[in-house]
Amino acid sequence: MRIIKLGAALLLAATLAACQKPAPKAGNVDGARIAAADTNADWPSYGKGYSEQRFSPLTQVNTQNVGQLGLAWYAQFDTDRGQEATPLEVDGVLYTTTAWSKVFAFDAATGKLLWSYDPKVNGKKGFDACCDVVNRGVAVWKGKVYVGTLDDRLVALDAKDGHVVWTAQVADPKSPFTITQAPRVVKDKVLIGESGAEYGGRGYLSAYDAATGKLAWRFYTVPNPDGKPDGAVSDKVLMQKAAPTWPEGKWKLVGGGGTVWDAIVYDPQLNLIYFGTDNGTPWNQQIRSGGKGDNLFITSIIAVNADTGQYVWHYQVNPGESWDYSAVQPMILADLTIDGKPRKVLMQAPKNGFFYVLDRTNGKLLSAKPFVPVTWAKAIDITTGRPIENPDARYKSNVDLQMPAPLGAHNWHPMSYDPQTGLVYIPAQSMPFAYQSDPNYVYKPGGWNLGVNMLANAGPTTPAQAKALAANIKGWLIAWNPVTQKPAWTVQHPYFWNAGVLSTGGGLVFQGAAEGQFYAYDARTGKQLWSYATGNGVIAPPMTYQLNGQQYVALMVGAGGGGQVSAPSLLPKRPRLPGRLLVFKLGGKATAPPFKIIQPPPLDLTGVTTTGDKAHGYVVFNDNCQVCHGANASGSWLPDLKRSIMITTAADFDSVVLQGVRAHNGMVSFSRFLTPKDVEDVRAFLISQAKGEPLPVPAAGAKTAVGPK
Ligand code: CA
Repeated sequence: MRIIKLGAALLLAATLAACQKPAPKAGNVDGARIAAADTNADWPSYGKGYSEQRFSPLTQVNTQNVGQLGLAWYAQFDTDRGQEATPLEVDGVLYTTTAWSKVFAFDAATGKLLWSYDPKVNGKKGFDACCDVVNRGVAVWKGKVYVGTLDDRLVALDAKDGHVVWTAQVADPKSPFTITQAPRVVKDKVLIGESGAEYGGRGYLSAYDAATGKLAWRFYTVPNPDGKPDGAVSDKVLMQKAAPTWPEGKWKLVGGGGTVWDAIVYDPQLNLIYFGTDNGTPWNQQIRSGGKGDNLFITSIIAVNADTGQYVWHYQVNPGESWDYSAVQPMILADLTIDGKPRKVLMQAPKNGFFYVLDRTNGKLLSAKPFVPVTWAKAIDITTGRPIENPDARYKSNVDLQMPAPLGAHNWHPMSYDPQTGLVYIPAQSMPFAYQSDPNYVYKPGGWNLGVNMLANAGPTTPAQAKALAANIKGWLIAWNPVTQKPAWTVQHPYFWNAGVLSTGGGLVFQGAAEGQFYAYDARTGKQLWSYATGNGVIAPPMTYQLNGQQYVALMVGAGGGGQVSAPSLLPKRPRLPGRLLVFKLGGKATAPPFKIIQPPPLDLTGVTTTGDKAHGYVVFNDNCQVCHGANASGSWLPDLKRSIMITTAADFDSVVLQGVRAHNGMVSFSRFLTPKDVEDVRAFLISQAKGEPLPVPAAGAKTAVGPK
């Protein structure tokens, strides 16, 4: 009996052990796991695996049943600014970030909040964020979660409970740099860049020891204006290759630009890390370097050794770039058959409107064709790899109305490569922009330094001009064949500035859109199969994971980002709404309540007076304020100043604009840039617009007040 009992007890113990499999260690991600996610259903890194294809082989949700997709759970956040993050799913935990660099960990099946982390970014830092106070997500590695904060910190959190393990200061917090990018981890090093090329400074990519936060190496993308080495891994290549491409110009004062604010991909076989760089500073190459020189390594794709950070090759998308045509846009690594030969390629659809396929072993251009209307160049010369530019594109005193615009034919919104269809799904857009040199350009430390006359875009238009302009503002989802360099199908959206993309083994492409719908399309035909009204704008990319046999599709919801901040009049008229995380499954029955919308009423301007000059105020406004509040005061997203009670008295307006009483929201004092008279003139302009008056006509040769007083 004893023996039988013992046997039964052992059997019971064995059964219990099988049921109570120890919970996996939180944040259990390493390089092998991220590399494997290129082909399996795991989603442990920003772009899924290191190749960042954003294709999941999961098939439970497919073309046959996607109509039954419903909400499984949702979470609402405490910020109403843009939501750009890709959530990661690691062993049943969903990690995501919101605007203002906050981190959240949820039970991926139930939506229960496990922990959250607020880096308490000072609201003043919002002034330095050209394109909203967004964050694109975390990296997870060996028990830690990494986030880059808007105020330039890289923070390592314990994946179990979110407590801070270490913090590294990536850039001087007093500099105008910000971080919005998701970190990536390669070989126990956390890779992070920074944003802010419009403001001045020099871009770089940094690699930090994942365990300790110690800086391992740093690669500067443009030469040091003082000609001295940085003591960085980029010293040699900057001296040999880059410095000779930078003739004299304002870059020596302003910094050159070339920030590294989005794409970082890694090929474990070639042991190469690839990253992209932003525009030069000032934008205008005439001012930056006398209209001469390639200005390496701005607007380039750079390959470095993953162990050392040493330069291996580069491909410059726009030599001597002058239009904010960044090459930081998402990159995808894939193996394609081109002309009958297997090729290891890197694909990018940068702002300039051409789709590039490079040989990622050596950086050689294999093909480049326009995926949207492009007017700045005829073609890319396949032999030299250089664009054949339209001569007018090198704007001087002429106004060059050009496509794409600085917001790009494709911005940060992730694209997806589906190996089953062989197609790349691109969130694409089109918009014209009038480039004209600013003859009055003066360096504004800490402000925008473009060297471009922004008024060239903001002037009054005739109804015919406005109609022609509107006809060229478009947003699409383009299914692009990277081998033939032709579209397979195209969906046109009602607006530009639509969301990132996911493709799946279920034959589906998922994408949200500016008007707030979340769509599923047939990956082969583009036929719309499902949609869900989120009630808010969508810019973030969806992701998918499977847990306990159930497939989920997760999406961060919340309008914002560069397009929303700089061109709100072209997007749905919607107040700012709190961000949400929506998670869907087949047969999901949860409901998210409608958003509460509170619109400020039109102002009663009875008895409101001003001593200001509205025509001058118009010029000052479009030079200093329109980036956040909309050209011609058309803004509806960041406060619509036509409806702000603060414009009704000079004292109230001064308290915000000169004294900075709203600095906690990112509206810092502009006393560095504007005189009290300028401010009253702006108020006069805003009052005139609040009354519905036509735009004033600026005085001929009107100069704006620029530079510190
Ligand atoms: Ca830029």
